[in-house]
Amino acid sequence: MTPTTTPQPSTNKMNLWDLLRNILPYVLPYRWLIVVTLILTLVGSLMAQVNAVVLDRAVDAINALIQQPGGFSWSQATRILTIISIVLLGKEVIGAVVTFFQRYYGERMRILVSRDLSLRIVERILSFRMAFFTSEENETGKLQSRIDRGIMSLSNTVNNFFIEILPLFTSAILALGLMFAANVYVGLVALCIVPVYFYVTYIQAARMKGGRRNIFRGHQAVSQGILNIIESITVIKSFNREHIEADRQAEIQSSMTDLQLDIRKQSYFFNGLKSFLEQIGTVLIIILTAYLVLIDYPGMSIGKIMYHVMLFANVSAPIRQLHRIYDDMNDALIYAEGFFGILHAEEQVEDSGSHRPQQVKGDFDLSHVDFTYSNGTQALFDVSMHIPRGKITALVGLSGAGKSTIVNLLDKFYHPDSGTILLDGTPLSQWDTQWLREHVGLVLQKNHIFDGTIEENIRYGNPAASHDDVVRAAQQAYLLDQVQQLPQGFQTSALQLSGGQQQRVAIARMFLKNPPIIFLDEPTASLDAIATEQIKASIDAIKKDRTVIIISHNIGQIIDADQIYVLQQGRVVQSGTPESVYRQGGVYKEIFDASARSMNADKIADTLDQK
Ligand code: ADP
Repeated sequence: MTPTTTPQPSTNKMNLWDLLRNILPYVLPYRWLIVVTLILTLVGSLMAQVNAVVLDRAVDAINALIQQPGGFSWSQATRILTIISIVLLGKEVIGAVVTFFQRYYGERMRILVSRDLSLRIVERILSFRMAFFTSEENETGKLQSRIDRGIMSLSNTVNNFFIEILPLFTSAILALGLMFAANVYVGLVALCIVPVYFYVTYIQAARMKGGRRNIFRGHQAVSQGILNIIESITVIKSFNREHIEADRQAEIQSSMTDLQLDIRKQSYFFNGLKSFLEQIGTVLIIILTAYLVLIDYPGMSIGKIMYHVMLFANVSAPIRQLHRIYDDMNDALIYAEGFFGILHAEEQVEDSGSHRPQQVKGDFDLSHVDFTYSNGTQALFDVSMHIPRGKITALVGLSGAGKSTIVNLLDKFYHPDSGTILLDGTPLSQWDTQWLREHVGLVLQKNHIFDGTIEENIRYGNPAASHDDVVRAAQQAYLLDQVQQLPQGFQTSALQLSGGQQQRVAIARMFLKNPPIIFLDEPTASLDAIATEQIKASIDAIKKDRTVIIISHNIGQIIDADQIYVLQQGRVVQSGTPESVYRQGGVYKEIFDASARSMNADKIADTLDQK
C-alpha cells in the first residue's frame, strides 16, 4: 500500500556524451534558433571584453595626460572622457539588446523542446505493453515524477546551454585569446589556472553524483508515498493509522534531509576552495603584469594591470559558475537517465504482427500455455482450452486462479512464456495487435469512465459514430430511458452516473464498437442486486452471435454459459457444459454449492414458494 522504498543507488549511468546524443534530435529542428543564438553569443562575448579594453586605454591615456610636462588641457581630458562614456554606454545598449534576444530565444528553445519531449513521451507510453505499467518501478507516482522532472531538467539544460554556458565559455575563450595577444606569459598563467579549477570541479562532481542520484530516487519515493496516502485516505482514516503513514514519510524525508545536508556541506567546501584558487590566479596575474611593467617589458603599461585582471575575471567567470553548471548537468544526467530510460525502452513497445483478416470469427485455441508475470508470479500452468466462435464460455474459479490472466493473454496484453494461442487458426503473435483489439470488446468490473459527457463516453467505442448511433447503443444497453430522464440527457457528465449506469455506458460502448469477440470480466461484481439484474439484460443482449468469455462469481451468469472452464491455481481442472461439470463434482461443485449456500438458496426458494 505504502512504499517502504528509501533512495537506492542506481546502476544505470549516463554520461555527458549520451546526454548530448539523446537531446540533440530535440534541438536540431530549431536550427535557425541555434544560428541566431550563436551569432548573438559571439556579439555578446565581444561586448564582454569592451570594459577591459576601454579601461586599459583609459588608464594609459589619462596617465599620459597627467604626465604631460606642461600640464594637460581640459579639452583633451573631456575628449577622452566623452569617448569612454560613448563606448561604455554604447556597449551597454548593444549588450542589453543582445541579452534580451539571447534570453528570449533561449527560453523559446526551452519551451519548444519541453513541448516536444512531452509529446514524445506520451506517444511512447501509449505504445507500451501492459507489463510496463504493472511493474513496481513504474508505479504512477514514480513514473510521473520521472517524466515531470526529466522534462523540466532536460529543457532547462538546453536553456542553460544557450543563455549561460555558451556565452560564458565563448567570452572566456575570447578573453584568454586577448591575454595571449597582450602577453604570452600572462596568457600562460591564466591558462595554467584553468585545468586546476576543472580538476577541483571534477572531483567535486564525482563525489556528489551518487548523493544527487539518491536524492532523485528519494523524490520519486516521496511523490509515490503522497500519492498512495491520497489514494488510501479512507482506509488510513478508518483505521486511525495517520501516525503510521506520517512516520513512514518522516523516515523517507529524514534520509533525504541527511543526504541533502551532506551534499550541501561538500558543495560549500569545494566552492570555498575554488574561490581561493581564483584569488590566487588574480594575485599571480597582478604580480606578473606589475613586474613586466616595472621592468619596462615591451608593450606593457600600467593600464595592462587592469586589462589583465578584467580579462582574467572573464576567463574565470564560467569557472566560478562551473560547479553550478556541473550541478545542473549532473541533475540533467540523472533525470535524463530516468527519462530516456522510458523513451528508449524498445523492449516495452507492444509488438504486432501483420495478420489483418477481413473477417474475425472469434475461435480461440490455447495449448499448453504457461505464463509468468514480471514479478515472478507464475499465473498459468499448462493451460489448454478451446473457446468456440459464437458461443459463451465462462471461466470459473476462486480469486487468483488465473481467470483474468487468460483474458489478458487473449487480448495480447501479455505474451505467454510458452505454448500457443491461436485465433481463427493463426497464432495471436502474428495478428496485428490493433486489428485484434478492434475486434475485441472488454467489459471490466469497473470500467473507466472518462471525465466527459455520457455521449462522449459512449462514443469512445467508435469515434466516427453519429448521435443516432449513440442513442441506439444506449437503447440496446437499456440505458436510454434513464438518460432521457436526466435534465441534460446525453450531455450529463458520465462521472455523475451510478455504478450500474456507468456499467451500462460501458456496455453501450461495446454495442457501438460492435466487436465479434467480447470479454466480460466480473461485469456485475460491484453492483447491487437490482443493477445486476438490469445489467444482465444488457449483457444477454450483447452476447448474441458473438464469442463471449465471461468471468463471474455469479452462478446465475455462469449457468447461462454454453461451456465452462474451471481453473484452480493456474491450471484447468474441469471443463464441459455447466451441468456436466457440476455432475462431475470437484471444485466447480464446491464453488457452486458454496455460492448457493451463501445466497441462502433454500430459504430463498421457500420464500419464493410462499408467494
Ligand atoms: P483471477 O482473475 O482468477 O482472480 P488473476 O488472473 O487476476 O486471477 O491472477 C492470477 C495470479 O496472478 C494471482 O496469483 C495474482 O496475484 C497474479 N497476478 C495478477 N495480476 C498480476 C500482475 N499484474 N503482476 C503480478 N502478478 C499478478
